[in-house]
Amino acid sequence: MISAVLPTYTRAPLAFVRGEGSWLIEEDGRRFLDMGAGIAVAALGHANPDLVAALTAQAQELWHTSNLYTIPKQEALAARLVDETFADTVFFTNSGAESMECALKMARKSFSHAGAPERSKIIAFTDSFHGRTLGTIAAAGAAKLTDGFGPVLGGFVHVPFGDLAAVSQAIDDKTAAIVVEPVQGEGGIVPATDSFLRGLRQLCDENGLLLIMDEIQCGMGRSGRLFAHEWSGVTPDIMAVAKGIGGGFPMGACLAREAAAQGMVAGSHGSTYGGNPLACAVGLKVMDLVCAPGFLDEVRRKSGLLRQKLEGLVAAHPDVFAEVRGLGLMLGLVCKRPNMDVVKAGYAQQLLCVPGGQNVVRLLPPLTITDEEISEAVRRLDQVACTLEASK
Ligand SMILES: *Cc1c(COP(=O)(O)O)cnc(C)c1O
Repeated sequence: MISAVLPTYTRAPLAFVRGEGSWLIEEDGRRFLDMGAGIAVAALGHANPDLVAALTAQAQELWHTSNLYTIPKQEALAARLVDETFADTVFFTNSGAESMECALKMARKSFSHAGAPERSKIIAFTDSFHGRTLGTIAAAGAAKLTDGFGPVLGGFVHVPFGDLAAVSQAIDDKTAAIVVEPVQGEGGIVPATDSFLRGLRQLCDENGLLLIMDEIQCGMGRSGRLFAHEWSGVTPDIMAVAKGIGGGFPMGACLAREAAAQGMVAGSHGSTYGGNPLACAVGLKVMDLVCAPGFLDEVRRKSGLLRQKLEGLVAAHPDVFAEVRGLGLMLGLVCKRPNMDVVKAGYAQQLLCVPGGQNVVRLLPPLTITDEEISEAVRRLDQVACTLEASK
């Protein structure tokens, strides 16, 4: 008999009822060190007191009105995001996939609005991930996402991540945009090189294309900068954001330059919940905390510390781990054992990490993780490696 919850998830036999900073706690009191943060969502830790206060204060005033009316905190959060980024305008959503849908629709609309509706083709990359809607599975293109859900939405072409020549070859007079994750997340923590991002920007400029970045996982401070593309000096025309932006409250945003958003006039797009008062109250507080002086310096410092310790771990366990890669607090351990074996052995050490593509274990802790917790996480990973070595 089918489970009451649609069985689309492979679930670990763990159930948490409470959170405190970098820790998740089961009913019986067992505490797990959370190096996954709900897949890069709880960027400010679990039950962050400032976020709890912002949410509960808003909950007592007003939960929901509608985008039929002005939502003051939505206006304030949009202004804040515009101030801190390349963008001139923001559309709020409830999830990453919806942010990407807005980005893809905006790119197509921009050309149709400019009198070139035939320019609808979007170039995307193999091993990318953009969400689970019909549009975003077509954007990523992998058979494991699209199988059985056809007909697949048309208009996407896929080329290898990092291959500028292939991108250049794929551009024709129907092309509208290129969509890229500055750091592939689900794909296994694969950062784009600066020269690749610069090359994409140049191809977009030369051919009049829009550059869309999916910073749903790597954005909001995760990389050690507010957005990962800042490391390369390259800016997008349109950017999808989610995960960390709500710190655990379901929220997303699509940011754009004015020139890219020309077609998005009244009535062209919408959302019932997007940017509602609860989400924006939390989003404003998340922005305050992530943009506070010194916060991102600390993320970069802790990244260095975690990375250095992980290099030591890899050196100590060359039969279990091959390599550390990534940036900021978005690090991947390339495994020599099946990555799920490492993740499961972690559960036994009360350590949570997340599998990713290319046999990687992802470490995406709260950005507020302490030095002691970093040491503790690596100690537990060392135990994981010892267990796996013993079971060889
Ligand atoms: C998680 C993720 C998405 C999808 O976000 P949802 O909130 O699950 O819809 C899209 N792109 C990237 C890069 C992601 O990491």
